Amino acid sequence: MGKIIETSEIKKTYVMGAEEVKALKSVSIEINKGEYVAFMGPSGSGKSTLMNIIGCLDTPTAGTYILNNKDVSDMSENELAEIRNKEIGFVFQTFNLLPRATCLENVALPLIYAGYNKSDREDKAFMALKSVGLEDRVNHKPNELSGGQRQRVAIARALVNDPSIILADEPTGNLDTKTSYDIMSLFHELHQKGNTIIMVTHEDDIAHYAHRIVRLRDGLVETDEINPNPTTNNFQAITE
Ligand code: ADP
Ligand code: MG
Repeated sequence: MGKIIETSEIKKTYVMGAEEVKALKSVSIEINKGEYVAFMGPSGSGKSTLMNIIGCLDTPTAGTYILNNKDVSDMSENELAEIRNKEIGFVFQTFNLLPRATCLENVALPLIYAGYNKSDREDKAFMALKSVGLEDRVNHKPNELSGGQRQRVAIARALVNDPSIILADEPTGNLDTKTSYDIMSLFHELHQKGNTIIMVTHEDDIAHYAHRIVRLRDGLVETDEINPNPTTNNFQAITE
């Protein structure tokens, strides 16, 4: 199990007119293949900024970021787009599905950029939807699904390229409690299958599914601890 992520003294400063926001002041973090990590911390502490850099949606102002043995800190937008497409599966709080496209089309979308032909795209998208239990919803549009089902479609889309890392920024933020635990069961399964998962959440019982919890505060890592007893199922949570 090698290192998959290594950030060294990453800084991110946003400049807005005359004002500067130091979103990340110096973050050094290492994550191994197959780890399941939760990022926690108050609003504005830099969680999404760090996720966006790890996910190659943004680049640091200073410091280095090695992803899968490649230095991505100074890559061009084109190079980043390619890395993003191959290595990263992103899941967002707001699902970010195309409303006019079917589930199958939504999930197949990343495969267009990867250069697959139509029938391969459809086969792979179907398998990804099946893996999240939605094989009977392939031709539905997002607005014909529940919130939990929409998030499953988004997870299928994140998985379809077989990425090295799954990044989920508040994946349960728009879901009710029961549905949140269903989604966490799915992440648990993905982790069992060997996927590397990084998730942002501000809810303790959601973070408790992760095997390691990193707390950010004011753009710095405040604590970075192994969770000795991660939640593995949702029975307890549901019966409470
Ligand atoms: P979190 O996800 O922990 O709530 P963020 O990473 O979104 O925190 O934000 C960290 C800080 O950076 C906040 O002060 C926020 O206002 C600022 N920030 C985030 N994104 C931008 C941006 N695109 N432009 C300017 N400031 C930003
Ligand atoms: Mg955020």
